Amino acid sequence: MKTIAIANQKGGVGKTTTAINLGTALAAIGQKVVILDLDPQGNASTGLGVPKAERTCTSYDVLLGDDRLSSAVIQTSVPGLSIVPSDVELSGAELNLADDQRRSYRLKMALADYRQELEANDDQCDYVLIDCPPSLNVLTVNSLAASDAVLVPLQCEFFALEGLTQLMRTVDLVRDHLNPNLTIQGVVLTMYDSRNNLSGEVAADVREFFGDKVYQTMIPRNVRVSEAPSMGKPVLLYDLHCPGSKAYLSLAKEVVQQERADTSKNENEPA
Ligand code: ADP
Ligand code: MG
Repeated sequence: MKTIAIANQKGGVGKTTTAINLGTALAAIGQKVVILDLDPQGNASTGLGVPKAERTCTSYDVLLGDDRLSSAVIQTSVPGLSIVPSDVELSGAELNLADDQRRSYRLKMALADYRQELEANDDQCDYVLIDCPPSLNVLTVNSLAASDAVLVPLQCEFFALEGLTQLMRTVDLVRDHLNPNLTIQGVVLTMYDSRNNLSGEVAADVREFFGDKVYQTMIPRNVRVSEAPSMGKPVLLYDLHCPGSKAYLSLAKEVVQQERADTSKNENEPA
């Protein structure tokens, strides 16, 4: 089970879109995936067609320790893809956890319990994708403390790199104090527009800055991608052959290949 936080404190950069569609694409190539909606806005839950009335057990209940993670997991219409939904209650987490010494480890504990439960039942989950809120608050810190890696969606626009220093500083702080093993999974360029020179320039800057951490796949700006959530569907179910679907499938393949490369590298390292 690999846990990946999809984080960027900027709103509107494609975090939720990436959680939904990378999750769907990973499931389509045979991985078992759980999306954990950690944004009080609940866009991932809505985008995957979970009605508000069905969000009886949410990521908030799990974070507070009132429910086990397994009891919050809902199967989506995509085989192999489930979601832990969220609702607006989650915005109270900051206040409710203020006095808890171990507040940053809440999610880590819940995921450890989930992993144990899966193992006991001979069940498995390959990826947990955490859809983070657009801020560096207690929710994002919980997800970074609980994750193996962070995946950063970056919108191809002029201010893309701004704020990234702050995110990287937070990642360093989390490494120093909460989770020494946290790595950067990668940076994915979103809403790329090949007709726009600026998009190309931003992409080149980001590649210069992050090197091979930037995925080859760029997610194009594609209206089908933005229409799909209103139908409560991932774009791969809404229009399998549109450029957005193809891009997310290609990103999923890169993510899985990256995993295989990392595993074989570790196996070849002297013990
Ligand atoms: P975040 O979760 O970072 O706030 P979202 O994933 O919600 O960002 O995306 C912000 C908006 O941009 C949404 O309306 C979404 O539908 C739209 N969007 C995201 N990716 C694309 C894309 N590749 N093409 C077109 N629209 C997109
Ligand atoms: Mg979002």
